[in-house]
Amino acid sequence: AAPPLFADVAGDIDVSFEFFPPKTEKMEETLWESIQTLSPLNPRFVSVTYGAGGTTRERTHNTVARIARETPIAAAAHLTCVEATRAEIDAVAEEYWAAGVRHIVALRGDPPRAGEKYCTHPGGYENAADLVAGLRKLHPFEISVAAYPECHPDSPDAAHDLDNLKRKIDNGANRAITQFFFEADTFLRFRDAAAAAGIDAEIVPGIMPVMSFAAVQKMSAMCGTDVPAWMARLFEGLDDRPAARQLVAATLAAELCRKLYAGGVRQFHFYTLNRAELSYAICHLLGVRPGVGTASAAA
Ligand code: FAD
Repeated sequence: AAPPLFADVAGDIDVSFEFFPPKTEKMEETLWESIQTLSPLNPRFVSVTYGAGGTTRERTHNTVARIARETPIAAAAHLTCVEATRAEIDAVAEEYWAAGVRHIVALRGDPPRAGEKYCTHPGGYENAADLVAGLRKLHPFEISVAAYPECHPDSPDAAHDLDNLKRKIDNGANRAITQFFFEADTFLRFRDAAAAAGIDAEIVPGIMPVMSFAAVQKMSAMCGTDVPAWMARLFEGLDDRPAARQLVAATLAAELCRKLYAGGVRQFHFYTLNRAELSYAICHLLGVRPGVGTASAAA
């Protein structure tokens, strides 16, 4: 018989949480409430995204610096190559180093106008692999990069995409965090393909609890991730029922994590969208509790 749900998790899980920089005071309040709710779970790190074309540069910096200053959690800053010269990007990285931030999530970024082809900025870093190499020359940052279990839309095929990931790791990245996905097998197959391609850095699944199904469908269409038909059926009729929708979303994300755990995964990165409850509930089911400490902290 199958074991009872979540009875097999053994306190050996590491989690991290991703936030975006708040635009308004109200959003700032929500973000800080979320950080306060999630911080007792002892995440390995929390990260703050960077807006397209550096539009959130100040806000990303302020949020990361505040986390570094006011909480004991390691803060990671996302940084992209979009519309900036190498010198400008290096200056941002130097500011982070000076503020005590030791972890960068290094990304190429998307074209500033949706639908256009990505163009390297004159005098800029060509792509994420190039940015990783640049950061490595500056300081001994911890560096995370992005990975795509369902292939990046700009990539001709999966082999090309894996080569790109390998270049990022070979240039000095410490780990890859994946784009979101909804089938555990998608991640497990990708992890095995990466290992077969000689990528030995950790690959952490990015978990996206569904806040709004319509938003997830829109985002998935842009990033080339599959939304299985069974998921559409599960969210049908819940548009005006936020509480029920949240319960369904937590159940699905927790079930995805449980399958990944059964496949040997011990690290999870949550796209929180600045809301704590869903990620908190899923972590709870996975045995991640306040004050217990993460697996790596205990080691
Ligand atoms: P890269 O790894 O440089 O490349 C993306 C694709 O382009 C690769 O698949 C590769 O095959 C192809 N490619 C790259 N260089 C070459 C080359 N020289 N020749 C041929 N093909 C090439 N975006 C933001 O704007 N801000 C964020 O904070 C942010 N955070 C993210 C966090 C995570 C965990 C993830 C998964 C994504 C995030 N993104 C963010 C989105 C990301 O910027 C986009 O997916 C972007 O299109 C690609 O960035 P990358 O770092 O993966 O690019």
